[in-house]
Amino acid sequence: MSDEVKDERRIPVGISACLTGEEVRYNGGHKRSRYCLEVLGERFAFEPFCPELEAGLGVPREPIRLVGVEGEEPRVVGTRDPELDVTDRLAAVSQAFIDRHRHLRGFILMKGSPSCGLERVKVYRPDNGMPSHSDAGAFVRELRRHFPELPLEEEARMNDAVLRENFITRVYAYDDWLRRVAAEPSYHELLQFHSRQKYLLMAHDVEAYRALGRYLAESSKRPLDQAMAHYLERFMAALSTPATRKTHANALMHVFGYLKAALDGETKQDLLAAIDDYRRGHVHLAVPIRLLNHYLKRYGSDYIRAQTYLDPHPYELGLRNTL
Ligand code: SF4
Repeated sequence: MSDEVKDERRIPVGISACLTGEEVRYNGGHKRSRYCLEVLGERFAFEPFCPELEAGLGVPREPIRLVGVEGEEPRVVGTRDPELDVTDRLAAVSQAFIDRHRHLRGFILMKGSPSCGLERVKVYRPDNGMPSHSDAGAFVRELRRHFPELPLEEEARMNDAVLRENFITRVYAYDDWLRRVAAEPSYHELLQFHSRQKYLLMAHDVEAYRALGRYLAESSKRPLDQAMAHYLERFMAALSTPATRKTHANALMHVFGYLKAALDGETKQDLLAAIDDYRRGHVHLAVPIRLLNHYLKRYGSDYIRAQTYLDPHPYELGLRNTL
């Protein structure tokens, strides 16, 4: 976000408790994440949760793992004692957590955990105990079932610049939705949201942008809550598709179009060169964005300056310096 309109609120984001340094792992250890605490902690008000502790499994505890056959939901059972089946307890505490935390804007998860793993958690066969396939952890399954719009990411995957930026973009877009659409629902707010998210959506999934536009054109025939639910589901799914250099360059060219009439030939060439340099991988996204913002401040209309694409997350996080 620009220096002028810094949003100093810290926004509520859930996190696997062991990532905050709490000693809640089965062996009494933790997995403190410096990036989460020291960088994102400036912007996110973390709300830690350990589903296994909440389910009463204690610390230290017998390790658990996913067991099942492909195509069916795995059970969560003791590694040493397969009679210890905690699937239902974990589901119950997860659902209770979700019911109390509808205000969250995202959740950062611990990789590989049978509870908190986002993906690729090993599932073992019930007959011979050999690894068979992979799935999401039990808590993540409940999040996806009961809170599908909530942005999720694993802390380890945030070492990847594209995934990191994508998650934080989704968190801030969802925050915008909650504060400005869900807080005071109306068709007007819904259309305004779509309007200011236009180029962000376009950079992630141009087809979804068009489909949502068509949907909204007819949405006044539908009940508002139905239109909002449909829109949010598809909007969040579209943002989950990471933008590429090509799709960013396309969005940048559209934004550039709003400046064409106001700029002299040399300045236009500079801007086009910056967009092309970015598309070719010679500079980071921050370079053309900074230039565009510079000229939009002087010559842009209110409409284009309001685009979240130009400023989707706090500038100080430097996320576009690595894209
Ligand atoms: S991964 Fe999840 S369940 Fe395991 S210790 Fe961390 S917070 Fe608790």
